[in-house]
Amino acid sequence: MKKKIVILGSTGSIGKATLNILKKDKKKFNFILLSAQKNIKTLINQSKVFNVKNLIITDPNSYSIAKKILSKKKINVFNDYESFNKRNKYKIDYTMSAIIGLDGLKPTLDAIKYSKKIAIANKESLICAWDLIKKSLKKNKTDFIPVDSEHFSIWSLINQFRDNNIEKLIITASGGPFLKRPLNNFKNINLNAALNHPSWKMGRKISIDSATMMNKVFEVIEAQRIFDIDLKKIEIFTHPKSYVHSIIKFNNGLIKILIHDTNMKIPIFNTIYDQTDNKKIKTKDINFLSLNNLDLKKINKKRYPVINLLKDINNKSSLFETVLVSINDELVNLFLEQKIQFVDISKNIIKLSKLKVFNKYKNVKPSNFKEIAKLNNFVKLKVRSMYI
Ligand code: NDP
Repeated sequence: MKKKIVILGSTGSIGKATLNILKKDKKKFNFILLSAQKNIKTLINQSKVFNVKNLIITDPNSYSIAKKILSKKKINVFNDYESFNKRNKYKIDYTMSAIIGLDGLKPTLDAIKYSKKIAIANKESLICAWDLIKKSLKKNKTDFIPVDSEHFSIWSLINQFRDNNIEKLIITASGGPFLKRPLNNFKNINLNAALNHPSWKMGRKISIDSATMMNKVFEVIEAQRIFDIDLKKIEIFTHPKSYVHSIIKFNNGLIKILIHDTNMKIPIFNTIYDQTDNKKIKTKDINFLSLNNLDLKKINKKRYPVINLLKDINNKSSLFETVLVSINDELVNLFLEQKIQFVDISKNIIKLSKLKVFNKYKNVKPSNFKEIAKLNNFVKLKVRSMYI
């Protein structure tokens, strides 16, 4: 029987990479659902190539246009995830959750209910709602694999959640485009320079987060939550070549390192297939001699001041993580709209996160997705109102 597939956020960088891998075997899969916010051109094209039965487009304008274009096709077009959920009668074999931002949380929680296996790239959900996700994974007996390359590598090194006797975890960071830029020259950073990541090809938002290093702050929190590792045991090292994704020292003295080329297709491929599938992915040849110079260095907090935000995080989930994600989201939006400078992102996330109105959430445990969604909207509106 064909394996049933759902890709949430199929028109994005991770969504497209996932479809690209599945394309080689597409006759073996039944593509039940693809979704996007507004990119109808790509979504409709994907629906043709993969013979998709259901599409979700959440932007109202784009939804009306797509509905008209597809009126004569046997494809259900929905404008929200609820409408699809009500109609869906299948248990899905593999779901990729790759919507960006906290709008991906509810679709991810719903997908856990209807999926046998879910790969989650949507890091905002993992950071802000891991307790809710974990509970639902257990209740629905759904297998979970993290997609972020660092977390995928930790998951592999600890034998898929089985070996949790970790003494030390090093998460690596490429350093982004400004690893070597003189600090007194940060004021002149423009949008193109910030988007120009030296080793990864990614979506715009996550590229900016890599340049400020906020991405690594989020990844440390993500690792703590998913693998229940004490934050004191986690360290960030810069590693410009980005071959090493994580290093783990175990209590038994062994140190394991996971290395692969800087291509998200590798972790994604391994969330779809396991060794028993006997599949091969074509990757760039790594010159093994380049491993003689990994150039690992402790992270420089002067260059990346947002790293200090980790002092405000503890080992228990709170709504403060939603505050951080939302402040950062809105500041990055303002930078992408060229309304604030690059340096204002780091400066203001540190400043705003200390405000009483936001800081009080450090002691509040998230109890449902609505609370997280409401806080996300509140924080984003508040941040925008301060800068426009
Ligand atoms: P992109 O911006 O490239 O794609 C995002 C996808 O989500 C698109 O399909 C987009 O649709 C859809 N989308 C955007 N906003 C909404 C919304 N409000 N409601 C529903 N759908 C929406 O993001 P990436 O693929 O880069 O990242 C996806 C997730 O994976 C993020 O959480 C990111 O942090 C994480 N991640 C990404 C990595 C990467 O290499 N890119 C690496 C590790 C993790 P449309 O095209 O119509 O806008």
